[in-house]
Amino acid sequence: MGNRVIVVGAGLAGMAAAIAACEEGAGVTLIDRGSVGLGTNSAISNGFFTGTTDSYGADDYVKDTMEIGRYLNRKRTVETVAEKAPGVMAIMRGLGVPMNISDSLYAVRPPNARTIPGVTLVKQLAAAAGARREIHIVRDLYVTGIMAAEGTVTGVEGIDKEGRDIVFNGDSVVLATGGAGAVYLRNDNQKNIMGQGYCLAARAGLALMDMEFVQFFPIVVSGEHLPDTIVYPPFHKEVRLVNSAGENLIEKYGLGSLSEAAMKRRDELSILLCGEAGKGAVLLDYRRVPDELWGEHPLSLLSLIKHDFKTKLLPVSPAVHFMMGGVRTDEDCRTGLAGLFACGEVSWGLHGANRRGGNALMECAVFGTTAGRNAAHFNGQGRGRSASAQAEKGRQADRGAIRKGAQRTLSDIRHEIRRAAWDHAGVVRSEQGLKKGLEITARIGSELAGIIPEGRRQVCLKADLDAALFTLRAILTASLGRKESRGSFYRSDFPVEDDANCKKNSSLTYDRANDTFASTYVETV
Ligand SMILES: Cc1cc2nc3c(=O)[nH]c(=O)nc-3n(C[C@H](O)[C@H](O)[C@H](O)COP(=O)(O)OP(=O)(O)OC[C@H]3O[C@@H](n4cnc5c(N)ncnc54)[C@H](O)[C@@H]3O)c2cc1C
Repeated sequence: MGNRVIVVGAGLAGMAAAIAACEEGAGVTLIDRGSVGLGTNSAISNGFFTGTTDSYGADDYVKDTMEIGRYLNRKRTVETVAEKAPGVMAIMRGLGVPMNISDSLYAVRPPNARTIPGVTLVKQLAAAAGARREIHIVRDLYVTGIMAAEGTVTGVEGIDKEGRDIVFNGDSVVLATGGAGAVYLRNDNQKNIMGQGYCLAARAGLALMDMEFVQFFPIVVSGEHLPDTIVYPPFHKEVRLVNSAGENLIEKYGLGSLSEAAMKRRDELSILLCGEAGKGAVLLDYRRVPDELWGEHPLSLLSLIKHDFKTKLLPVSPAVHFMMGGVRTDEDCRTGLAGLFACGEVSWGLHGANRRGGNALMECAVFGTTAGRNAAHFNGQGRGRSASAQAEKGRQADRGAIRKGAQRTLSDIRHEIRRAAWDHAGVVRSEQGLKKGLEITARIGSELAGIIPEGRRQVCLKADLDAALFTLRAILTASLGRKESRGSFYRSDFPVEDDANCKKNSSLTYDRANDTFASTYVETV
């Protein structure tokens, strides 16, 4: 009998892992707190994969990726993507994902201009996973812990749709829970993506690397009744980015064209727009765009928003897009716990101090496939089979009620965490701000600890907030020790990249008994 592999998270990385493990003869349990594919960040992606092709070689891929990562990338991880990208893209196409290939890009081809490419991607993979009898899909299961015995993973525990505590035993586990964008007030992620995987892994004793490197996208819709939708380049020449005084910001700061600034000078543009936002609104002016262009991609996606683009300017802001750091893994997706593999945005190694466009989806595809294969062959000597494959741990938990006299609801606390992240761990950071952020997280932590949630929805929301707060503390702590600016990371008190002292990866470990982080900065491996 093959291994029983448990995959947590059903975005691109998790689905790729589940399918790969199944192809290797394993029985797979694919778990997500929501549905499979839809509801993930993968589903709202623009469908661009960057990698080696017939016309773009491995050496170029490694060089360009490391340069954007400001040489904090794990080189063996980058080389692995360079080697495996064409083969893995062939697997994706074989699973029915339609793609165009040009230069260094594999681009998902949606059926029409109004479909988000990520939706085409995940629907195809969800259908492929669903068609495999050996993949048991478990929806609406919130994983709350990774279980281990004698240094080897044995399974996961979680809460099901009815609020019951459930344990899944397995021979190996793949963590594919995505990033943490929604920890921040302004972000373009799905609203539940709050660093749950970082928290699960660190509480299981694993190191988190480079958590200070958070990528911002400069232009995301930010109006009060508008969705936080990313505004994709390319921008048509008629579109202008202006401040409340009507100044053309691309001209004002000499940034070339709007498309060039949004694609190639994202960090610089984000810093400038944050400065402008301190003085008033930042707006996109689409009033001169001719009617016939609104049916074309990417304007066709923007036109899905309820906004009168013909008469009103669109408020925009930089927003968190992606986490470069994550769980320490090697090129085989192994973590510090035997039998636990990690892949996708939750993992670390490919990006260094900044991510190259298209490298996140490629990371999910390459390392999802790798993690699934390796999990299928992991030999943990059956430790995870000491109990049945799925066991109900206990009766429906009686979780009591929200603490009597609690002044604030969990939603209020969520807002405060997101505000603190934006204000103190945002685009521009400083020692004073980071310390203030840590003070706020300590206070919120005490308040959260006193709240006993009622019912499944509240239990999951509280677990989200625990994870968000944990991730924010990790970001603040790792940022405090990095006394330079590099890649996506900007410290107003240390504005220069400092190779002599700081060309190192940060590494955080969590001491559960004392609820503290220990941070070190290690030579890039
Ligand atoms: C708007 C947008 C556009 C993008 N476009 C591109 C692009 O074109 N190219 C590119 O390379 N990158 C792009 N990215 C980045 C890329 O989409 C993500 O990095 C990638 O999709 C992450 O995939 P994943 O499988 O790791 O996680 P996800 O797709 O986010 O899936 C993780 C899943 O795990 C679930 N989960 C988390 N915790 C738990 C738990 N405790 N229990 C159960 N389930 C859990 C989550 O709810 C989620 O469903 C984009 C990102 C955004 C936000």
